[in-house]
Amino acid sequence: MTSLAIIDRVQVIAVTDASTHRAHLVTDDAVVAGRHAGRYRAVCGELVLAASLTTPERGCCRACAQWRAAR
Ligand SMILES: [Zn+2]
Repeated sequence: MTSLAIIDRVQVIAVTDASTHRAHLVTDDAVVAGRHAGRYRAVCGELVLAASLTTPERGCCRACAQWRAAR
């Protein structure tokens, strides 16, 4: 018997927002789309302005965490 599985291979990275210091999850495609403006559309729908790499993170966005948990 043959089964067909659809595997979601969406890759995401965490991007810390400069104003809230919350980490949001951004897909590879959204990184490419937002790289010139420096703003990235997160999986939760928020538009994220990437913070400096030295900015301390204050946890992950709840909606993004739920998106990841559902995968
Ligand atoms: Zn988010």
